Amino acid sequence: MIICQPFFMKNKISKINKLLVRRFGIPKRNKKLPDPVDLIIATILSQNTNDKNSFKAFQNLKKKFNNWEETAKTDIRKIESIIRIAGLGKQKSAAIKNLLKELINKNGKISLDYLRKRTNDNVLNELVSFKGVGVKTASCVLLFSFDRNICPVDTHVHRTLNRTGLVQTKTPDKTFDIINKQLPPDIAHQFHTNLIRLGREICRSAKPVCFVCPLVDICMYESKNLTPVENYRENSFMLLDNVN
Ligand code: SF4
Repeated sequence: MIICQPFFMKNKISKINKLLVRRFGIPKRNKKLPDPVDLIIATILSQNTNDKNSFKAFQNLKKKFNNWEETAKTDIRKIESIIRIAGLGKQKSAAIKNLLKELINKNGKISLDYLRKRTNDNVLNELVSFKGVGVKTASCVLLFSFDRNICPVDTHVHRTLNRTGLVQTKTPDKTFDIINKQLPPDIAHQFHTNLIRLGREICRSAKPVCFVCPLVDICMYESKNLTPVENYRENSFMLLDNVN
């Protein structure tokens, strides 16, 4: 396997991005960017479920409480029942309560607005200091709430970029470090969102559908599946662009 040198990485990222935009278009974005606390809670809810169920659970929470301070004072079992549709209710309700309590203990209120003017590294370091917040969630705050040119790396982004040969990494966090050093300006949202679509619809974990993949000509994956398929299911709903 050829390792993509940093010198060529920017060009290859641009190439992948162009091919993905040609296939999926430029993903829509709400003008009103999500509040960072909302975004972290939505990310907690999204673990091990699909975006539609986690979105419903998030909406249930927003309808039930006037603000996060009310949620923080609510019995954990009640939160668990409100978010049931997203699954893993016990763990997720505990993670949400912990986050809200930590924010109150640290700043006296539930807000992350104090991070808005800080550097990317500073925001990342601060957010990962909260229990249960990892690099992926922290980088989602940077991209979706603060509109920075940072591409979060989840399992889909990690898998697809390794298969293409852009990186050869063992963990999403390592992929994150490498690609964000070379990311061309103003592409993070479309690059991230379209890679997730690619991973969900085409470059699936078990059996990629390389026959319909827009990256097939530049991808270096050795076990491409070039069996023709008649159709595949589109999945363009993105939770974190709909958190408001
Ligand atoms: S060609 Fe196949 S392995 Fe390569 S990115 Fe596309 S779907 Fe994934």
